[in-house]
Amino acid sequence: MTLRPDEITTIIKQQIENYNSKIELDDIGTVITVGDGIAGVHGLEKCMSGELLEFETAAGDNVYGMALNLEQEFVGTVMLGSDANVKEGATVKRTGKVVSVPVGEEMLGRVVNALGAPIDGKGPIEAHESLPIEKIAPGIITRKSVHKPLQTGIKAIDSMIPIGRGQRELIIGDRQTGKTSIAIDTIINQHDKDVICIYVAIGQKRSTVANIVDILTKSGAMRYTVVVSASASELAPLQYISPYTGCTIGEYFLNKGKDVLCVYDDLSKHAVAYRALSLLLKRPPGREAYPGDVFYLHSRLLERACCLNENYGGGSLTALPIIETQAGDIAAYIPTNVISITDGQIFLETDLFNAGVRPAVNPGISVSRVGSAAQVSAMKKVSGSLKLSYSQYRELQSFSQFGSDLDEHTKQQLATGERIVEILKQNKSEPVSVPNQVIIIYAVINNFLKNIPVERISDFEKELYDFMNSSQPDIIETIKNTGALPDKAKLDEALDVFVNKYLRTV
Ligand code: ATP
Ligand code: MG
Repeated sequence: MTLRPDEITTIIKQQIENYNSKIELDDIGTVITVGDGIAGVHGLEKCMSGELLEFETAAGDNVYGMALNLEQEFVGTVMLGSDANVKEGATVKRTGKVVSVPVGEEMLGRVVNALGAPIDGKGPIEAHESLPIEKIAPGIITRKSVHKPLQTGIKAIDSMIPIGRGQRELIIGDRQTGKTSIAIDTIINQHDKDVICIYVAIGQKRSTVANIVDILTKSGAMRYTVVVSASASELAPLQYISPYTGCTIGEYFLNKGKDVLCVYDDLSKHAVAYRALSLLLKRPPGREAYPGDVFYLHSRLLERACCLNENYGGGSLTALPIIETQAGDIAAYIPTNVISITDGQIFLETDLFNAGVRPAVNPGISVSRVGSAAQVSAMKKVSGSLKLSYSQYRELQSFSQFGSDLDEHTKQQLATGERIVEILKQNKSEPVSVPNQVIIIYAVINNFLKNIPVERISDFEKELYDFMNSSQPDIIETIKNTGALPDKAKLDEALDVFVNKYLRTV
């Protein structure tokens, strides 16, 4: 056999030329400690804050974690799945991505967990896009001041504490004072208003969330709503990320120029979950054992609420955070923080609730700092006198308890006040349209109700709505279409006719 060296060299040369070195460089770490949903990982030198890490488990599948503490020797990670099968010494891989959730129209009508995975048993969600859960809030240049109302359908709120699209309005009160009901009623009232709603349940009982989903489904609100749930039994890290998840799902629609409403129910439990994981991560505790950055926790979430200007799509994201207080103590750490971040607050009181004033809104200390700019003009006109009469009534009420002989004027003010309290009462899931609200408030402040017995007022109200909608459609249409208060003479005449008719039946 003859060797042909030139042939061999060409082959070798060819092979050298076509040699493709393919080295995969994976940043791989090892689990040093694991437990309570927290893992310490050694060796991930290039790890980013908030990065998604993949843990190898003894069971062969992978669970994910999120890097929160970047220390010199190791990375403190919170687990986003069960840590039962993660053992010391297990390998951890970087994914190079920060935690993201699926977004898109497909999410509407669904109940998802904090990672955006469906938990309603209606099959997988075919979302084509995903967005990182942490995002820097829109800057000043992209924003516009609040100019469009967000109607809650609740008389006491739409008249005295109006909310604008893009506003952040806190709902605050003790346990069982109707906080969730206000938020849910607001979602239900958006059925014809082209607003996408996101309800984030943080640290609540599963049964409560199931109940809420049921109410939303029955009222047809699930069509435009996404429910994000991280219930009390879920890991603290999942509760911690859930409001950001909800906000991100909302931002997808915001970027499409739509109006979005996000309800965070509630941020007290969110702060508690964050405290739990911070303490486990050995971050130093501060006041009430919350970590030092608990203010930033909520400010970076609520700053993402915005009203964008036309150049940026003109969408808006309204935030309705909820805070639960202990025995009405609004000066506690978390309540004061969130009060200072938001553009106003709706205070709910146990005493009022128990006295049958529901929704138990205390208009004296509730405020909306920007919403009045967005209020419908007819409502603005009637609500000014409403607030004044109501606060006068409050003052007189405490004072009149001491004496019995009151002058005629005081008696009349008290009678009007009683009727105001009565018309502001409203049942759950019974939103009132803007024209109806304007008419009833107009009627009460102009003393059309003075001869109606207080106990008949709720009945009167219903019949008045029926009467106005059936026999005075032009009044209703004027308010609905122009937002202006209709001709006074016409309105007075219609109310006179109805009141006289009604008094004959009493
Ligand atoms: P929790 O502190 O448990 O979260 P919450 O403050 O969210 O309570 P809700 O669950 O909304 O309060 O309401 C408490 C109870 O009050 C419920 O049973 C609800 O049906 C009732 N309720 C709320 N609003 C009204 C209303 N306007 N009229 C009548 N009942 C109401
Ligand atoms: Mg609640």
